[in-house]
Amino acid sequence: MDNCRIETKCVQSGYTPGNGEPRQIPIIQSTTFKYDTGEEMGKLFDLEASGYFYTRLQNPTNDFVAAKLAALEGGTAAILTSSGQAANFFAMFNIAQCGDHIVSSSSIYGGTYNLISVTMAKMGISVTFVSPDCTNEELEAAFQDNTKLVFGETIANPALTVLDIEQFAAAAHRHGVPLIIDNTFATPINCRPFEWGADIVTHSTTKYLDGHGCAVGGAIIDSGKFDWMEHAEKYPGLCQPDKSYHGITYAEKFGKEGAFITKCTAQLMRDFGSIQSPQNAFYLNLGIESLHVRMPRHCENAQAVAEYLQGHPKVSHVSFCGLPNDPYYKRAQKYLPNGSCGVVSFELKGGREAASRFMNSLRLAAIETHVADARTCCLNPATTTHRQMNDEQLKQAGVPAGMVRMSCGLESSEDLIADIAQALEQL
Ligand code: PLP
Repeated sequence: MDNCRIETKCVQSGYTPGNGEPRQIPIIQSTTFKYDTGEEMGKLFDLEASGYFYTRLQNPTNDFVAAKLAALEGGTAAILTSSGQAANFFAMFNIAQCGDHIVSSSSIYGGTYNLISVTMAKMGISVTFVSPDCTNEELEAAFQDNTKLVFGETIANPALTVLDIEQFAAAAHRHGVPLIIDNTFATPINCRPFEWGADIVTHSTTKYLDGHGCAVGGAIIDSGKFDWMEHAEKYPGLCQPDKSYHGITYAEKFGKEGAFITKCTAQLMRDFGSIQSPQNAFYLNLGIESLHVRMPRHCENAQAVAEYLQGHPKVSHVSFCGLPNDPYYKRAQKYLPNGSCGVVSFELKGGREAASRFMNSLRLAAIETHVADARTCCLNPATTTHRQMNDEQLKQAGVPAGMVRMSCGLESSEDLIADIAQALEQL
């Protein structure tokens, strides 16, 4: 399977049934697992043997789907989480603790911005936000002695900026820290951040990977490339004995290919929970089976909608990196040559009020706090996902108050454009 193309991996990776076993991934709907002897189970608790004992930490259904995601991203290990928020929190908290510092692109999902700048700050983890378009000098200046990771989104939600992954990876590596990329919007179909130097990838699987708006979830995938032991003084959690696991040193015992995800599972899942339910993992897998077929259609529809909006007299600005005059077009040609995603952001002349009237007039596109669904949906970020930000922070994140974010689904682009046209006529 390793040599197969990504389309084949979407369908078949992660689970290979044996003779007479179910063709579809079985849903192991069990909280616990039975053992003949206490000694056998003890070995699992000591991480001396691999196997399952409690679904809060691991479940076979989840592991089949996580293995598929690892194959799609080109990583060595992966874990499913209960949400994209949990994935980003776990990915960062696995290597940053009280007294540490994060460098992050300022152009990220509002929930992640809040997680880093408010909730993680309460845990004693500080952050310096940098523009996704910063110069090398500005990026360098953001690092501190206690910086433990760099974070960014391939295509940011909702600003649709495209990150220069190579630039951010090079800076991270110069400072001996990994680059974590949230690849939710691009999906591994359109960009595989490990190929550009990223070390860890996260996903809100709630979005395109599921693609049908039916299961909240997240995932963390490790490239297995970052050498924790080479920077052992920075990562005591991975490179020094874990007292809660009888003195295991994750980076020694599981190597750079397995240490990150093993620690995430054994420590963070044990202590925080936040596992994806096996049922949701099953739905997620159904979504991934058609990801390679759906993504090009989402991108085609978004391209058609963006081109229509760009020429419309009631529209003041359109952000979509597939438009040749978009500031991220050139970067997208490099990182996303086959298409970006189905999300288009635009600003209507008339600001917040016009945005609201326009959205209320749409018939096919629904107002939803969601993107990446088979059904087209839209929202006004300033009054919903980003409402915790003040005007200055909104500006920094590239989210003007009158912006409409439209996630183009899998309908006919002619029907979508007709719906948009009649809603614009109401303005
Ligand atoms: N990352 C990105 C890029 C997102 O767009 C979202 C949600 O919209 C998240 C993370 C959080 O994911 P979830 O809603 O699954 O917790």
